[in-house]
Amino acid sequence: MVTPSPNQTFSFPLSAMPSLISRNVAVIGAGAAGLCAALELRGEGHNVVVYERENQIGGTWAYTPETESDPIGLDPKRKVVHSSVYASLRTNLPRENMGFRIYPFVASGKPGRDPRRYPSHREVWEYLRDFAEEFRLSELVRFGREVWHVGLVEDRKWVVKSRDRNGGEGDGDSEVYDAVVICNGHYTEPRIAEIPGIDEWPGKQIHSHNYRVPDPFRDQAVVVIGNSASSDDICRDIAGVAKEVHIAARSVEDKLLGKLPGHGNIWFHSMIKSVRKDGTVSFEDGTEIYADVIIHCTGYKYHFPFLETNGIVTVDDNRVGPLYKHIFPPTLAPWLSFVGFPWKVSAPFPMFEFQCKWIAGVLSGRVPLESKEEMTADIEAFYAFLEASGIPKRYTHSHLTEEYPYEYSDCLAAKGGSPPPEEWRKQMYFAAERRRAGMRETYRDEWDDEDLISLAHQDFKNYNLGVTL
Ligand code: FAD
Repeated sequence: MVTPSPNQTFSFPLSAMPSLISRNVAVIGAGAAGLCAALELRGEGHNVVVYERENQIGGTWAYTPETESDPIGLDPKRKVVHSSVYASLRTNLPRENMGFRIYPFVASGKPGRDPRRYPSHREVWEYLRDFAEEFRLSELVRFGREVWHVGLVEDRKWVVKSRDRNGGEGDGDSEVYDAVVICNGHYTEPRIAEIPGIDEWPGKQIHSHNYRVPDPFRDQAVVVIGNSASSDDICRDIAGVAKEVHIAARSVEDKLLGKLPGHGNIWFHSMIKSVRKDGTVSFEDGTEIYADVIIHCTGYKYHFPFLETNGIVTVDDNRVGPLYKHIFPPTLAPWLSFVGFPWKVSAPFPMFEFQCKWIAGVLSGRVPLESKEEMTADIEAFYAFLEASGIPKRYTHSHLTEEYPYEYSDCLAAKGGSPPPEEWRKQMYFAAERRRAGMRETYRDEWDDEDLISLAHQDFKNYNLGVTL
């Protein structure tokens, strides 16, 4: 394992490596994960093509006021809008912890940029554009190309079929690759709460994927389902204009039920029990209200409409499997891999780096991968552990990362040959989480971990980019 040092370099001197094998690799998606995959794969000597259906990089961080025709996303024929970001969104992580290790997310000082520690969504998008420009990643991307089929062909190769989303020529493009890395994001396909009586209920429903601004909720009685970072933001956003906001959440302590302190028009309830055709919403805690709108902040589904693996990789109750370390399906590894699955992680971008460096290193032969049998045994042990602990399948890609946020990154760093996460990073994450839990209204603007910020900045100065362009 590589020992971290203040002067560490995050890439390997390729000339010193014994004959690395260069592969032809397709990456699906040019969000943060796809850009990171492109950088790591190219740095390892692979030939990379990134397919991106939008005309820009950034994925979910490319805000658009556009929403989908079906506000709860059930219509399979709806035009898909990729981003789920709302206008008022600020990050829920401090920027020092959020950015890629190879390209720290520091305030750039450029005109018009947002220097705040928890900046707006636009600042993250600009940062990703800077990242792509710094490493000349856009030249690897085929913009406006939607992948509609990825499947196995002879000799364990993959065919990638794409079409021009802008309606131009070349709808039937088809190319063959040694490996495919899937980075298509998992915050676009809504999950909806099941509510008894909903078919007769006369109000409107939307999923948070289609929430952008509070204005449409002016003077309305709104129920927000969920108790996540997004529902927290959205209910406070809406409370400024709505008549009433009622939060329905699964795990609310009894003492928190009722009016939210400091807010005249927000109430906490337990989950919705049922709704009726007179517009009433009843909660499991016995309370009842009249509501005009229900907003589902109930998460998303993993969704790969383009992927054909002959049943080897399946999605079952939001468990994508079987996947070794949430990345490799044992019988198709390392030729098929997935980046970015774990959610509720300490910080997604650094995790993408660990995952991508490992994938790139396995493909080149720099690092070994466990045998098919070993990977399968590891997955089976993991599933057995989840079952014995009573953890539902749908939390497969969150549970361990949530309870031990750095165990997964430490493990991947060791496998891929990356320096492990820095100590300040771990401490900063726990400090930020404590603030977020205790100071929901102000955690983005008040903190007392200046010592960790200064350690982070010292490290940032010493990082040697050392990437191969
Ligand atoms: P995405 O950003 O979704 O990118 C996927 C890309 O794949 C898109 O560009 C899409 O167009 C493309 N694509 C999809 N299908 C195809 C296809 N068939 N063909 C071609 N291209 C395709 N993370 C943080 O670190 N901090 C935060 O504060 C934070 N807040 C968040 C708030 C919200 C509301 C949401 C939804 C997420 C938040 N996240 C946050 C998590 C965020 O999603 C990740 O940080 C990260 O941006 C995910 O990157 P990704 O590349 O995996 O996916």
